[in-house]
Amino acid sequence: MKTIDNFNFAGKKALIRVDFNVPLDENFNVTDNTRIEAAKPTISKILNDGGIAVLMSHLGRPKGERNDKYSLRHIVPEVEKVLGKKVIFVDDCVGEVAEKAVAAAPAGSIVLLENLRFYSQEEKGDEGFSKELAKLGDIYVNDAFGTAHRAHASTTIVAKFFGANKCFGYLLAKEIESIEKVMKTGEKPVTAILGGSKVSSKITIIENILDKVNHLIIGGGMAYTFAKAQGGKIGNSICEDDKLDLALDILAKAKAKGVEVHLPIDVVAADDFNNDANTQVVPVTDVPDGWEGLDAGPKTLENIKSVLLASKTILWNGPVGVFEMPNFAKGTIAVGDFVAEATKKGAFSLVGGGDSVAAVKQFGFENKVSYVSTGGGAMLESLEGLVLPGIAAIYE
Ligand code: AMP
Repeated sequence: MKTIDNFNFAGKKALIRVDFNVPLDENFNVTDNTRIEAAKPTISKILNDGGIAVLMSHLGRPKGERNDKYSLRHIVPEVEKVLGKKVIFVDDCVGEVAEKAVAAAPAGSIVLLENLRFYSQEEKGDEGFSKELAKLGDIYVNDAFGTAHRAHASTTIVAKFFGANKCFGYLLAKEIESIEKVMKTGEKPVTAILGGSKVSSKITIIENILDKVNHLIIGGGMAYTFAKAQGGKIGNSICEDDKLDLALDILAKAKAKGVEVHLPIDVVAADDFNNDANTQVVPVTDVPDGWEGLDAGPKTLENIKSVLLASKTILWNGPVGVFEMPNFAKGTIAVGDFVAEATKKGAFSLVGGGDSVAAVKQFGFENKVSYVSTGGGAMLESLEGLVLPGIAAIYE
């Protein structure tokens, strides 16, 4: 894997695709600077070498038109604060203004270009636009995992204009390594714990990981489709009735591949989809009429704990209950504790894709697991076994 460590950036302009698509409040203050922090090691290495860091990103969805609401100008103070250095902001991302600003930038400086998505050519992956972008750097660095699953101009197409002068930044390299640690080189036993609401949104991931894992723990809303498919009574619990055969098919495939599947044993059922609803613990296959399962029960958690603590590699995607409601977040918090404990014992743990990241951050497990992915959709596509265009473009 070619990373920025393979280059000396002294006297070179690095065109870096970062993901500075950060949330802003109504006064345009950055409310979460995680993504800026995440790009810092890459930018620092380039500046320390004596190079120029030319940063490009999108922000929001301006749909191919200039719109001050989405100007990256708003985030300049936060970028300067995080990087501890002045930023030269350029009002455009291509053309004469951008070319002049980059040419005039002294060694060791940071240039931030205006929002790439002010041009519709960005999302279309337009060649001409990519070529214009390529004029702004000697070496192309991709450090934006969150957009690596998109074949956009700045994430993918631009790479072809750099010959061998292209590489991954530290953040993207770490994402790739973490996924490989689970999917290719993971120490056994490898366990995937999948939750979330629907089987349909996770089916491709399940099919792909059946070849990589020893244990598959199924939790959350998804589990009820499996419970019903096996003849269980699930009351009002969330269920995809058109996926019952698929659920049985998955269980059969897992058995044939020697993967041990762990479905919930008991669940916390509620008489309403409401934090203050009445609750009772019932078997997953015997949820009373008018009740719905909203969290993992104690026996289920006991089983999850023993599987996770015996695992050497763990992938966690999706909450095991409706964690947005405090009374049904307990199972997800417990799973976080088990993953943290397994990690402390030496397991490698990767948390990624959509809501599991939100849950991990909300409950403070971020620093207790091995790696929390920065890309929702990109992570899901990686787990589905797809080769992301932004990653392929660096290898080509
Ligand atoms: P996903 O985006 O597929 O990972 O699903 C995450 C969502 O699944 C969260 O918003 C959870 O509230 C929801 N979820 C988890 N368990 C359940 C459940 N038992 N019933 C309904 N929704 C659930």
